[in-house]
Amino acid sequence: MSADCIFCKIAKGDIPSKKIYEDDELIAFHDIHPITRVHFLIVPKVHIESLGSCETQHQVLLGKTLLLAPKLAREQGLAGFRTMINTGREGGQEVFHLHVHVFGGGDSLPKV
Ligand code: AMP
Ligand code: ZN
Repeated sequence: MSADCIFCKIAKGDIPSKKIYEDDELIAFHDIHPITRVHFLIVPKVHIESLGSCETQHQVLLGKTLLLAPKLAREQGLAGFRTMINTGREGGQEVFHLHVHVFGGGDSLPKV
């Protein structure tokens, strides 16, 4: 838990979220500013700053985080989806608590 971290506060239940999944290690909730019809975040509860701070000890947790994406995407009615992990300021990261964006639905996504 990092005192000023918004995702730690969401994970603890101190700040409300539109939660779609929770277990001991992970929480998933809809992004507050969705960029597509369905856009949610999968967030490990433990405070890790970014993918750039992950180490070997996080291997299993990272696997669980990614494996949750297709399950929740299906539940949200997505036939396909895109995942994104912004890492570091130059990578577009704004919330410095590791999270995976999962989004899709509606118009096709731009080619990258
Ligand atoms: P990133 O640029 O990858 O750090 O993205 C952070 C994401 O968190 C953005 O898409 C924000 O819209 C989203 N976000 C910030 N605060 C909240 C919140 N309280 N509840 C849900 N999503 C949030
Ligand atoms: Zn945090």
